[in-house]
Amino acid sequence: MNGSLIFGGLGGGAQNTNICIAKAFEEALKSVIQSDDGLRTDNLLSLVTEAVQKSGVLDRLLKVQKLDNVDIEGAIHAYYDITHQQCMICRHLSAEELKRYTSLHSASLDESLRIVRDYLIAATAKDCSFMICFRPRKEGDSGSVCSNVYLQSTKQTFDFKVATLNIFIIYLFR
Ligand SMILES: [Zn+2]
Repeated sequence: MNGSLIFGGLGGGAQNTNICIAKAFEEALKSVIQSDDGLRTDNLLSLVTEAVQKSGVLDRLLKVQKLDNVDIEGAIHAYYDITHQQCMICRHLSAEELKRYTSLHSASLDESLRIVRDYLIAATAKDCSFMICFRPRKEGDSGSVCSNVYLQSTKQTFDFKVATLNIFIIYLFR
């Protein structure tokens, strides 16, 4: 909150929630969510749920995750073609099994690049984190119209921002 960690660890881990941690968390939310003791955590969860839903971020992520339809078992064949190496997977397969990958190995270079690129983009979207920021709207503050959630029980409006975070890996082909 306001740049300080109030729950969980920096590496993303968190202790099991016990009564002390739960109480401290409620206390920390006091200046942001104007409800009675014991209700603020639930209200925060409602805010998160609604913001995730309203932002459409899960739909967009799913769309990107679906870019790949061959998975690593398929993309690896295209990868060997791009790098002009003998396919290490097909090397150990019988003639019958090889037939399954004939179409992948007969793809053009552009098509092979597309397969590997889509696989990497989809894999990136399958391993990402969210960052959601909330800011309670002050009186007279116009804020944004679409990125806000209204908390019925406290009659507060919160502006929010949702971002996805990744560690990027860059692959180079020669
Ligand atoms: Zn192969």
